[in-house]
Amino acid sequence: MSVFLEQHYGNPSSLYPIGRDAKESITEARETIAEAMGAERSEIIFTGSGTESDNFAIKGIMEAHPEKNELITSAIEHPAVIETALYMRKLGKKVTFIPVDECGIVDLDVLEKKVTQKTALVSIMHANNEIGTLQPIKEIVHIAKKKNVLVHSDAVQTFGKIDFDVHKLGVDLVSVSAHKIYGPKGVGALYIKKGTEIHPFVHGGHQEGRLRAGTENTAGIVGFGEAARIAAQLLKKDKKRLDYLAEQFKKGIESRISDIKFNGSEKERIKTTVNFSFLRLEAEAVLLALVTKGIFVSTGSACSEDSDDVSHVLTAINLTPEQARSCIRFSIGRFNTEDDIKTVLEELPKIIENLRSISAGSI
Ligand SMILES: *Cc1c(COP(=O)(O)O)cnc(C)c1O
Repeated sequence: MSVFLEQHYGNPSSLYPIGRDAKESITEARETIAEAMGAERSEIIFTGSGTESDNFAIKGIMEAHPEKNELITSAIEHPAVIETALYMRKLGKKVTFIPVDECGIVDLDVLEKKVTQKTALVSIMHANNEIGTLQPIKEIVHIAKKKNVLVHSDAVQTFGKIDFDVHKLGVDLVSVSAHKIYGPKGVGALYIKKGTEIHPFVHGGHQEGRLRAGTENTAGIVGFGEAARIAAQLLKKDKKRLDYLAEQFKKGIESRISDIKFNGSEKERIKTTVNFSFLRLEAEAVLLALVTKGIFVSTGSACSEDSDDVSHVLTAINLTPEQARSCIRFSIGRFNTEDDIKTVLEELPKIIENLRSISAGSI
């Protein structure tokens, strides 16, 4: 990336050689990202984030199909989708949030009833960012296609992490983000299936097929391409290792700590996201105690930590307020080792026991 901030500083739209170098490298990154999801290069549009990709997909499709005024999404989407959907409602569109079961899987019967000829788009995420639940995207696509409805999936949590192919899933639009696969922050992409009618997201010059104008973030895009290349290369080997670590971790927690609740789906999940409620405790107290041991976890989702609100995901899977307030999300990533897991499994039970004895004493 630094090469593109220093030597190859040329504008990719210019004709002089350093601009052409930049353009070629953007094309290469586009090819790598397309290949990693089984798409064609021309179907990938670079954006400024996963959030922007979600905005682009929903707004772009709703605007391009004014004769259809309905949007369907789920109750546990990332705020990038939820807030965009609520904005669509403000603009007068009919917006439906499909409920999920206790594992976080969307209710396909409700979906089947809600999808009509007036639906412009069904937008349902691939894996949830708080509890890791995987949605039955193929079945969702099957239901939508019976009514000729387009399907978008926010795949920010799965791209580069599990085997991923847009044709196998059958989706029309897919959002991905660089920083969730160890790439740079501030760059994302949207897959738009060939022939899909969509309105531009940013109007201006000819960049990104005129759909997202503005001089390209060359260094960011090149970094995203490299991150996708490495992710694809490591996928098989590393996924096995990380799934194993995550499984050891989950079992370890379950055998060492009592009065806990696993949140999410035992079967349909991305294993490296592990979410537990530690009953009778405030998650924040556990988080802070873990920090002192150099262990960094999340409560709810990173986007809602500033507010007192219980996460909409935890509410949607029917947790009681107490269960939701005591909920911690552990993410196991590429740089975690068996020793890391061992450390957490040693420290966490002590922390929980200690905090529980304090809070019991204070009552
Ligand atoms: C992180 C995330 C996003 C937002 O991506 P940014 O690049 O951070 O804007 C959207 N959806 C999901 C599921 C995410 O995990």
